[in-house]
Amino acid sequence: MSHKAETITLIGAGLNGPLLGLELAKRGFQVEIYERRADMRRVRMSAGRSINLAISTRGIHALTQAGLWDEMRRIIVPMRGRMMHSVASELTFQPYGKNESEVINSISRADLSVALMNVAEARGVRIRFQQRCLGMDFKAGILHLRDEQSGAELAVEAGVVIGCDGSASAIRDAMLHRSRFNFSQHYLDYGYKELTIPAGPGGKHVIETHALHIWPRGNYMLIALPNVDGTFACILFLPFEGADSFTQLNAHSAVVEFFQSRFPDAVSLMPDLANNFFANPTGAMVTVKCAPWHVEGRALLLVDAAHAIVPFFGQGINCGFEDCTVFLELLDQYGADWARVFREFEIARKVNADAIADLAVENFVEMRDRVADPRFLLRKKVELALEARYPQLFVPKYAMVTFHRVPYSTALKRGQRQDHILTELCDGIESVESLDWTKAASLISSDLTPLELS
Ligand SMILES: Cc1cc2nc3c(=O)[nH]c(=O)nc-3n(C[C@H](O)[C@H](O)[C@H](O)COP(=O)(O)OP(=O)(O)OC[C@H]3O[C@@H](n4cnc5c(N)ncnc54)[C@H](O)[C@@H]3O)c2cc1C
Repeated sequence: MSHKAETITLIGAGLNGPLLGLELAKRGFQVEIYERRADMRRVRMSAGRSINLAISTRGIHALTQAGLWDEMRRIIVPMRGRMMHSVASELTFQPYGKNESEVINSISRADLSVALMNVAEARGVRIRFQQRCLGMDFKAGILHLRDEQSGAELAVEAGVVIGCDGSASAIRDAMLHRSRFNFSQHYLDYGYKELTIPAGPGGKHVIETHALHIWPRGNYMLIALPNVDGTFACILFLPFEGADSFTQLNAHSAVVEFFQSRFPDAVSLMPDLANNFFANPTGAMVTVKCAPWHVEGRALLLVDAAHAIVPFFGQGINCGFEDCTVFLELLDQYGADWARVFREFEIARKVNADAIADLAVENFVEMRDRVADPRFLLRKKVELALEARYPQLFVPKYAMVTFHRVPYSTALKRGQRQDHILTELCDGIESVESLDWTKAASLISSDLTPLELS
């Protein structure tokens, strides 16, 4: 179906704006994107805004539909599992999936964003940079913008607006003034800081390339994701306040001492640690829930603007790209009946967005604390053994979320039932060889029905 006459206005040219924009342009719409930042292809990005993302099945599906995945393969590094680093610098590897095809893929946010903007513009999407959205008059269909260079404010007519403007969305702020708009935001007491492990001689990675490295320390953690240029993008997750917190790390010497005592094998790989630490901002992490996500057929919130989640399941952008997939399927089904498409979209996605928000918070404890526990590692082995024997019945929660497109709400509910089964089966055993298979068969057949995997 071609929709040549209609202009769709998107706010935000981060990751989802350009992807949705290019798909809409492919369907014949005129697409304009207003982006508050300068064009990162022409202006150097400010420090600390380059976090890596882990792209998995849902994200890959959307990129494949858009015909972009083959090109993206050149800028990703597959990660086969978690490499845990103990304080004594011992390494333990825990695979993510049941085989080599179940990997997650590290990609630089900036590289992905640039690739998406390039393709979007090549397909006719117009991106207007340094145009900050200040709000929207939904009744009149007017967008309020400010030119960030000149400071001039302007009002533009916009028929259909989609807010892809991230967790602090201006379109969502405008919806707050409407009656019966539900909104909650919850900040973690933790912040994050980006750091770098430089490449070794010849642009080689100085630690295992195909792993997501974790230094789990109970209440906090450091992680490192590989880049194609031999560097690692690291993120330190630490409480804002208290002992072992960002507040304590207020001088170069404090940072170096903290790293030397807690992450000794990492500090030796970070020659510019303290400068890096103070050059980069400390970010906050928030879960946002709101409803409704749309104002009739006029405006819609998408991805982080509608449902920001904390990053510990590596699903923000995967969930976001899946939003695009579902949105486009509905558009293809109902045509440009925007009120209907927006309504159906929210019905399809809200329950799943809420579920992945809860799973992401839960996974923080797993990453920073439980991955270092031998009982947890045993549970992971038992999970994989159960999956190998009952592939349609027992699919680990991590796999349902990461390697399949099982609805997040199903993964959450099934995951809880499976956790209960695992607790029963792991109780009193020390190795996977001692697993009581008769008990396993009985628990699984009574608690789980076959799962439709996609
Ligand atoms: C530390 C960290 C690690 C993460 N790791 C992962 C991971 O491993 N895997 C994963 O899938 N996800 C991850 N995420 C989540 C992921 O980054 C987000 O879900 C994703 O970027 C959301 O995409 P978006 O397009 O909604 O928003 P964004 O990518 O944030 O883009 C929003 C865009 O809107 C622009 N904008 C904002 N306000 C305005 C305005 N008023 N007017 C005009 N433009 C505006 C911004 O400048 C920006 O370009 C992580 C997030 C963090 C913070």
